[in-house]
Amino acid sequence: MRSEFIERYDLRVPRYTSYPTAPHFGPSVDGAVYARWLGGLDPALPLSLYLHIAYCAEMCWFCGCHTRATKKYAPVADYLDALLAEARLVSRHLPARMKIDHVHFGGGSPTLLTPGDFGRTLAVLREYYNIPLDAEIAVELDPRTADEPYVAAMARAGVTRASIGVQDFDERVQRAINRIQPHEVTARVIGWLRAAGISAINMDLCYGLPHQTVASLLDTVDKAAALRPSRIALFGYAHVPWMKRHQRLIPEAALPGLAERWEQYEAAAARLAAHGYVAVGLDHFALPDDEMAKAHEAHALHRNFQGYTTDAAPVLIGLGASAIGALPQGYAANELAIDRYKEAVREGRLPVTRGIAVTREDRLRRAVIERLMCDMGVDLDEIALMHDVEADRFDGELDRLAPLEADGIVTRDGRRVTLTEEGRPLVRAVCAVFDKYLGQGAARHSKAV
Ligand code: SF4
Repeated sequence: MRSEFIERYDLRVPRYTSYPTAPHFGPSVDGAVYARWLGGLDPALPLSLYLHIAYCAEMCWFCGCHTRATKKYAPVADYLDALLAEARLVSRHLPARMKIDHVHFGGGSPTLLTPGDFGRTLAVLREYYNIPLDAEIAVELDPRTADEPYVAAMARAGVTRASIGVQDFDERVQRAINRIQPHEVTARVIGWLRAAGISAINMDLCYGLPHQTVASLLDTVDKAAALRPSRIALFGYAHVPWMKRHQRLIPEAALPGLAERWEQYEAAAARLAAHGYVAVGLDHFALPDDEMAKAHEAHALHRNFQGYTTDAAPVLIGLGASAIGALPQGYAANELAIDRYKEAVREGRLPVTRGIAVTREDRLRRAVIERLMCDMGVDLDEIALMHDVEADRFDGELDRLAPLEADGIVTRDGRRVTLTEEGRPLVRAVCAVFDKYLGQGAARHSKAV
């Protein structure tokens, strides 16, 4: 019964970091449309900035990010020039020198920048935008490329949170994903961060990797929890070699099957709970005094392209090749190819090449999907009221949820839908019921579990 149940939900569904999701973006949103959207923003709205550093020292074979490997600094420096030029260009289209509450450096590897360039980047951003001293500034940090001077530069520049990539501490798993990162390297960088005053630390772990077993993953979870990061993300490896060619180097025969993935997730989640972490949404775990655990408790958690966030800013500006912005008017995605991205910026053009304007219907469905992803439940009456639509609007979707209810994935109380404990890993399949774009186009997504 259990294997049949798992098989039934082996769906390929979106990760729902946006709605509509990125495969439904199109060329109707370009630099001119984005310029109009930026100019039409309410100057009082707080913004979030996402900066995408699209380079790494070498490729990890499991990686699903938009990045490329380089051994030289010149391409990184050249790219950073374009990124800062884009920051300036965007600021000129805004109606005022707007306030930034959150800055997030992602990638790729932001720690590939020299300490000097990292500090300079924030100094330049502060020229174009109003970044208060208490703004959250988060950096994705690769312990293999971050040294002590880099950590010191981060602290001087006002960084408040570091997000550390680990994936798995097991050497055999690390070899199979081409990411050799001894435990002491991770522990050492955490020590430097804390000594420098950056005490908000996230750690990324991954299940479903080659050679992983429940036992090896639990050993990783124990080691991670012993380092006491305030948040741990536990992502399922998404094997999509048709989209990410380097994933062909992953030994497919060593990948755990669907039932094993499920067991790994459940065992790791239970062990994190035993270590005192609160489950937040689908794949995050936070210490009870962390802002994310508090936001989860208050049903105030959000979801954006970086995953779960406490950031409630209504405008996210994406800078860099492949970065995506989320504005009240819609989504705007930058050029993917680094060369074309740099060329557009150098010619003074906003490098947006695709996106989608969101409709009233999209906002309604986005609210349902966001609450499901963040709270593991949704009150459809409440959402209907907030969006001024009839409460019976979703009765068709409620009918389609009946098989999931029969399988114990969700429970229903009137129009209130709640994921069961067992159903939590399948939340994306529940969201898919409310996705009116699904099935349109040829998009392929990763496994639900
Ligand atoms: S996992 Fe991180 S460090 Fe590795 S290739 Fe991807 S972005 Fe770069």
